[in-house]
Amino acid sequence: MMPFKDKCKLCGRVLAYGYLRRCWKCGQYFCLDCMVPDVSTGDTQRMTCLNCARRMVSPKAENKYARLTSYLKFRKAFTDSVSLTLAQIDGIIGDNLPIEAYRSTDWWANSPNRIHSKAWIEAGWRTVEVNLKEGYVVFKRIENSPRATITKERSENLPERPFQPVPARIKRMRKPSKTKLAKLYARIKNIERQRRNLLKR
Ligand SMILES: [Zn+2]
Ligand SMILES: [Zn+2]
Repeated sequence: MMPFKDKCKLCGRVLAYGYLRRCWKCGQYFCLDCMVPDVSTGDTQRMTCLNCARRMVSPKAENKYARLTSYLKFRKAFTDSVSLTLAQIDGIIGDNLPIEAYRSTDWWANSPNRIHSKAWIEAGWRTVEVNLKEGYVVFKRIENSPRATITKERSENLPERPFQPVPARIKRMRKPSKTKLAKLYARIKNIERQRRNLLKR
């Protein structure tokens, strides 16, 4: 049975399903206050959550997976194996994983060419188990993995996963409008403030 209500992933308000929309980019549900129409086309059929919108208009594409790298580097000192739920990873990177991460085990392949998998490979970890049904991933430490030998390590340690090249995504570079960006940031700030106030009560 579908629950009648759910939480907006950004502001945390609990609303009936009719008041929540799915972000076409990340696939999570948000209230309409936390969404904008598609940032490039203004298409209201493609509602975008503010997290994704911010990323799309942000001039420099910051690497949000850098936090996963630091987290895994930190864990390396204590353990050889780390199991994380997808929600925990959302928490670590402070953002939603893309919808592909929830749908496709390929997204979790140890590819040295993709920014997200590089995040764990460069930290000295590789994925050894992906369970999307239960929503968790197991990372295992790559033995003696200094940065310089990552490529070598890969070919030696990953015979079970044949390398599958990922079709390159064509990134359209468009000049973001400064006012658009400022408005988005202001809106996100405002929502965060409201959320904090809600929690205080
Ligand atoms: Zn919201
Ligand atoms: Zn989104």
